Amino acid sequence: MRIKKKCVCQQHPDTPETIDAIRERCGQASPILATCDRLMKFKSSRTCLTQCRVCGTLWCVEYPFGETHGGAACPYAVATPKNAKPDRLFKVRRSEEDLAWFHTLGPECGPQVCGCRNCDRLRIRQSKYCTVHYFRRVKGYRVPGT
Ligand SMILES: [Zn+2]
Ligand SMILES: [Zn+2]
Repeated sequence: MRIKKKCVCQQHPDTPETIDAIRERCGQASPILATCDRLMKFKSSRTCLTQCRVCGTLWCVEYPFGETHGGAACPYAVATPKNAKPDRLFKVRRSEEDLAWFHTLGPECGPQVCGCRNCDRLRIRQSKYCTVHYFRRVKGYRVPGT
């Protein structure tokens, strides 16, 4: 097997924090992973840790769009294994999608108030809850960033 002597690790020092950055990094994954060996996989997640055999950079690799539906690997460099957080990019993607959906809810036109105790917001048309509590009912967790 031919051993590659050069790697592209230094060209991608940042961690993708937005859905666009994640997509862009997915497109850059092949040359990055070409020099990487898998070290370990996190339990109960799609995240694994790899290391470049040329420069030693640690890369956390995720499939934030899922592995089956044309999902691409998305690597981001980490300083130590402890900096690798399982499903970090998946959560970024999910938050963005959740917020996009949240903003389609409403308006809170009432006239009744939200069916949640202690909430004085008006309810939305398709539910007896306000946008915040409707989101929580459907998703099972809070609106991201609140
Ligand atoms: Zn490298
Ligand atoms: Zn409410």
